[in-house]
Amino acid sequence: MGFLGEEIKKLGFGLMRLPMVGEEVDLEQTGQMVDLFLAGGFTYFDTAYGYLDGKSEAAVKRVLVDRHPREKFQLATKLPAWTAAGGEEAKKMFWTSLARTGAGYFDFYLLHYLSVYRTHFFDDFGIWEFLEERKREGLIGHLGFSAHATAAYLDEVLTKHPGMEFVQLQINYADWESGIIQSRGCYEVARRHGKPIVVMEPVKGGTLSPPRLPREALAVLSEANPELSAASWAIRFAASLEGVITVLSGMSTLEQMKDNLSYMSRFRPLSGEERSVVERARAELAKIPQIPCTDCKYCERECPGNVAIPGAFLIMNDYLVHHDLEKAKGSYFWEIFSKAKASACVKCGRCEAVCPQGIGVVEELGKVAKLLEG
Ligand code: SF4
Ligand code: SF4
Repeated sequence: MGFLGEEIKKLGFGLMRLPMVGEEVDLEQTGQMVDLFLAGGFTYFDTAYGYLDGKSEAAVKRVLVDRHPREKFQLATKLPAWTAAGGEEAKKMFWTSLARTGAGYFDFYLLHYLSVYRTHFFDDFGIWEFLEERKREGLIGHLGFSAHATAAYLDEVLTKHPGMEFVQLQINYADWESGIIQSRGCYEVARRHGKPIVVMEPVKGGTLSPPRLPREALAVLSEANPELSAASWAIRFAASLEGVITVLSGMSTLEQMKDNLSYMSRFRPLSGEERSVVERARAELAKIPQIPCTDCKYCERECPGNVAIPGAFLIMNDYLVHHDLEKAKGSYFWEIFSKAKASACVKCGRCEAVCPQGIGVVEELGKVAKLLEG
């Protein structure tokens, strides 16, 4: 038996970036991905109340719960108390998730996104106690939380809430030594508290895979083994760490799913030599100053001015890697077609308060405006 008495392979299906047809989830392709995933012996699915404005949970019902025996998979979802106006509304989210997924119970359930700015919502609304009750009722198998926090803050939360059974953390090789994300520091804290870990963002929102992975880092990986995808190095790095329950990959296409299954079906931890390849790729990445935006879009919901924050950062990063100013200006023109440009920012700081990557959004937008609006 694996962690928490569950048998779970080292790859989990993250349902945050599902394939879309227009505004709706592409249920046909998602269904094929789910079938392929289960056929490979993989069982862990991760969604959240807020993913795709609830469409992710609704898709879970259609492509997973309604089509496969319930005991054949584990389902995790999350409660974002910080989006609720009060305790009743926050608690209602649990029941909405249950109804929307039709899952009957959740194998894993998480307080979504604890951080210095957000944890107090869960405290103020009595969510910790509320979820413990649901667990006692059998509606939750294992209770934990996801966090975007410093190692010191994670330590504080785990000390205060020893009943939490697992944690979900952002761990990838690029952020391993980062002073902001603190992947290694948070990992070590979780290990010290004896908490098994679900890894999120192993490919850092796709930035550790082409076309967004800088060619210098890609060259290191390709030279070491031209057969392996860049994503495979990133996912295997996270899955090789001790204490990891599973590594979530937010797969958006059948191709990504097939690639992931190809090396995770017979998962082999990184050898010492392979770890040094990853170290070299990390060193190459560190030489290129990029904005560490993962395109999670949390800031967009907060921005009163509808500024094209992640879109502008993606374009800026592309410019920083490839130095093609004409292309960057063209992409920016289209990006701000339906959104406000960087110079429209009124510096209210709401985006920075929610950014899990700790990005100095206002300052970076200033650079975007200077380069691309001139
Ligand atoms: S600081 Fe600027 S970009 Fe950020 S939320 Fe306020 S207006 Fe939007
Ligand atoms: S700026 Fe921060 S909050 Fe906004 S999309 Fe990027 S990582 Fe997410």
